Amino acid sequence: MRGLSVNGRTYRWPSRPLVVVCLDGSSFEYIDRAIAAGAAPYLRSLVSLTFFRLVQSALPSFTNPNNVSIVTGVPPAMHGISGNFFLDRDTGSDVMMNDASFLRAETIPAAFSRAGARVAIVTAKDKLRRLLCHGVSGTCVSIEATGVEVYSAALSEQALAEGARLVEATAPDLMYVSTSDYVQHKHAPGEDEANRFYGAVDRSLAAMDRMGATLVVTADHGMRAKADAAGRVRAVYLQDVLDAWLGPGAARVVLPITDPYVLHHGALGSCAMVYFGAAVDGAALVERINGLAGIDVAVPHADAWRRFDLPPDRTGDIVVFADGETVVGTRPADHDLSALDAPLRSHGGRAEQEVPMLANRPIARGDGPLHNYDAFDVGLNSST
Ligand SMILES: [Zn+2]
Repeated sequence: MRGLSVNGRTYRWPSRPLVVVCLDGSSFEYIDRAIAAGAAPYLRSLVSLTFFRLVQSALPSFTNPNNVSIVTGVPPAMHGISGNFFLDRDTGSDVMMNDASFLRAETIPAAFSRAGARVAIVTAKDKLRRLLCHGVSGTCVSIEATGVEVYSAALSEQALAEGARLVEATAPDLMYVSTSDYVQHKHAPGEDEANRFYGAVDRSLAAMDRMGATLVVTADHGMRAKADAAGRVRAVYLQDVLDAWLGPGAARVVLPITDPYVLHHGALGSCAMVYFGAAVDGAALVERINGLAGIDVAVPHADAWRRFDLPPDRTGDIVVFADGETVVGTRPADHDLSALDAPLRSHGGRAEQEVPMLANRPIARGDGPLHNYDAFDVGLNSST
């Protein structure tokens, strides 16, 4: 059978349309609670009858690194997108990685489109289009660019509805649909609005199934409450901490979550990269950060890029993950939380790394660990 090699893996040519769906911010609990509420009968059938596994996302558990991991089939160490920002050590300035020029690997959809497959990409937010559609000759749709409000559930619902429309109208060989995590930042699993949203997701997925598509559904990261019972954000403001320890300017905290769309999380996520000069004792600093309440782990550069599959040149001198209840910020004044109309929910750390993978065909796959970026491999090589 005809196959295509992309980034070290060989993918079988699809025998029917394959649709990989990334449900942004969907820890399994969202799906589980929607199923329990009777709102997601199609997802229920996948979970109980065909294929369901809990898999690992790439780190940091943010949107761009994981969407790019899914479409390239490899972790950030190989594709280069380790967050929205990194610090250029030569210039000392923050560099935004929203552009395809930072991509170091070809995407699976791009490779298939070059080989003659019909390929379609649908993204909710426009920011992902440049990365996900790079090199794809085919259909590339951003729902945000059609004028839908970016901070809305409708953005994701329409992305999936457009995906279903495209399966029917164009019968693509390969399609990738990526939603936004607006609903999950705002609502906990099981809340009425979350269940309603997954009901809409459910109907579009079921429609694609009826059209004969193979579906593999996964997520870019989970989502957890990051506020206390009174609704106050639980944050470690690491730049303030480091300034107090080392003096101002000795170390610099870069938050890879920062991007143009911060209203729903105030740029507070659970990962930070620390950069510092030769005057700082790195080992001692790692130990001190590890001792802070709310910190899951702080790891020096040399261990971090290997252990977390990160690109060495876009990884800080120390990689810091906050724990499941906590986020990392720079200074309180850098984070505008005035637009938050619900207690903060966010992601970025190891606690938000576990995500579901679902498929609508039996999957011949051993018990070995799976990542969300195995989605195309599962859909093309393991589905029967
Ligand atoms: Zn996301």
